[in-house]
Amino acid sequence: MTTIGVFALQGNVREHLAMLTSVGVEALAVRRPAELERVDAMVLPGGESTTMYKLARSFELFEPLQKRIADGMPVFGTCAGMIMLADEITGGISGQETLGGLDVTVRRNAFGRQVDSFEADLEFPDLGPGFDTPYHAVFIRAPWVERVGPGVQVLSTVRSGPAAGRIVAVRHDRLLATSFHPEMTGDARLHGYFAELVRGL
Ligand code: GLN
Repeated sequence: MTTIGVFALQGNVREHLAMLTSVGVEALAVRRPAELERVDAMVLPGGESTTMYKLARSFELFEPLQKRIADGMPVFGTCAGMIMLADEITGGISGQETLGGLDVTVRRNAFGRQVDSFEADLEFPDLGPGFDTPYHAVFIRAPWVERVGPGVQVLSTVRSGPAAGRIVAVRHDRLLATSFHPEMTGDARLHGYFAELVRGL
C-alpha cells in the first residue's frame, strides 16, 4: 500500500493525516529520519515556515528531506509547506532556509498583514472532471507564487478581488504546492489528486 508521510514537527498534522486516510493511502506522522525512510511521499503542512526549517534542522530531517526530494520523492506542500518547497522566497526572516526543489519564488505573508485570513472559491481547469465544481480554499497568512520557472504548471489563480490573478497552486512533476490549507475544509480532492500522482509512479 502507498504510504504518505506528514511532516509532524509543526503545523496542521492531524488534519492532513485524516485527509490522506480518507483517500485510501496509509498516512504516517514523520518526526525522525527512520520514519521518512518508510514513506513513498510527503506532505509538508501549513504552520510557520520559520519554525519549521529550524525544527527540521534540529530533528535531523532537513538534509534527508532534501535528499529524498532530489531523488524524486513526491511532495505536497501547503501554505508554510509551499514556502519550504520553494527554491526562492521573499519576505523571509534573515537566514531562513527552505528545502527547495520547486523552481518558483514564493512571497511570504503576501496577501498583506491586514488580511490575516480569507476564503475563496478556486478553479482548477487542468485537473479534470473531478474539479468541475469550485474548490473552496482557506488562506491563513498565506504566501503566493511570484515567479514560476520553466516547466512549472500553474494550477490555480485567485479569481477576483485585489489579489485577482495571483498564483496559489502549482505543480512541477512530482511536487505540488498550494498557498491555502486543503486539509481544513473536508474537500479531499487535492489529497486524492496527490495520492493518484504517487500511486501512478
Ligand atoms: N505565514 C506562514 C509562514 O510564513 C505560513 C502560514 C500558514 O502556513 N498558514 O510560514
